[in-house]
Amino acid sequence: MALGIPSTMAQRARTVRELLAAGERSYSFEFTPPRTEQGERTLWNAVRRVEAVGPTFVSVTYGAGGSSRGRTVRATERIAAETTLTPVAHLTAVNHSVAELRNIIGQYAGAGIRNMLALRGDPPGDPMGEWTRHPEGVNYAVELVHLIKESGDFCVGVAAFPEMHPRSTDWETDIRHFVNKCRAGADFAITQMFFRPEDYLRLRDRVAAAGCDTPIIPEIMPITSVRQIERFRQLSNTTFPSELERRILAVKDDPMAVRSIGIEFATELCARLMDEDIPGLHFITLNTSSHSTATLDVYRSLGLHQRT
Ligand code: FAD
Repeated sequence: MALGIPSTMAQRARTVRELLAAGERSYSFEFTPPRTEQGERTLWNAVRRVEAVGPTFVSVTYGAGGSSRGRTVRATERIAAETTLTPVAHLTAVNHSVAELRNIIGQYAGAGIRNMLALRGDPPGDPMGEWTRHPEGVNYAVELVHLIKESGDFCVGVAAFPEMHPRSTDWETDIRHFVNKCRAGADFAITQMFFRPEDYLRLRDRVAAAGCDTPIIPEIMPITSVRQIERFRQLSNTTFPSELERRILAVKDDPMAVRSIGIEFATELCARLMDEDIPGLHFITLNTSSHSTATLDVYRSLGLHQRT
């Protein structure tokens, strides 16, 4: 049975699908769920700063464990209820039965949320650890796309990987599985962060060659500290350009200089991508004042705060 979305809320904003179909670009910001009361305040300060520039949507990542998941759902619902922003709700299949997934989808629908990002998720603790499906759950994001689409008139996004998903053995199967998510009804995709425009463009070409025209939005994260380089290496298979690393390490004792280089690099990357007819940009904010203002600095440098 399709879930009812409160009509007054549903009239609030176009879905990401509708906006992209109208030929407009989507500009969005991603937050992480708060862990503490102080974290909650930091998140809300960041949300309000982003609200002031009128993005297409904002999203809050879905945590790996029970309590952080509750915080994701609450923060997403609060964005829907208390701000002028359109939330896109992340949802993963990790440790959830189908019944629980349906329940969360219903909760989001009840809060007037019409856009969702359907993700498989990674095993908690070790992203490359062995994936174990919940005994009554789903194995892949494609099944979550089906589940959400069956549940109501949702606009659904999925993940895409400019340097191939780390668990994929070859490009051909990686692209086939991505295209299957689109054929299952995904309306748009957001990539994992990357630093080399050619990685995004190659992915887009490969997807197009497979006969799929689902819009793929690049995800961008300005580097704002030396520590992020190491953390980034541990958690991701994305190539970190040696030239960027060299420039950052040359000023490693000057945090403001590191931040400026990160912003400049991210702005150039976005500008290069915007020359390539991309469907939008999705910025990772990391919530903190320093990082969320860095993404806004990139946004402003591109002149996007003045768009009508
Ligand atoms: P899938 O599409 O299911 O793919 C996972 C792997 O399985 C791939 O190698 C794929 O090729 C393969 N595969 C797919 N279908 C099949 C099949 N039928 N048979 C065999 N193999 C198959 N994680 C979180 O925990 N919370 C978040 O909020 C979150 N947000 C994210 C946002 C973005 C924009 C991105 C890019 C990632 C995000 N992630 C998040 C991380 C994501 O959950 C992991 O990268 C996960 O490993 C992949 O998820 P997926 O949805 O692409 O999975």
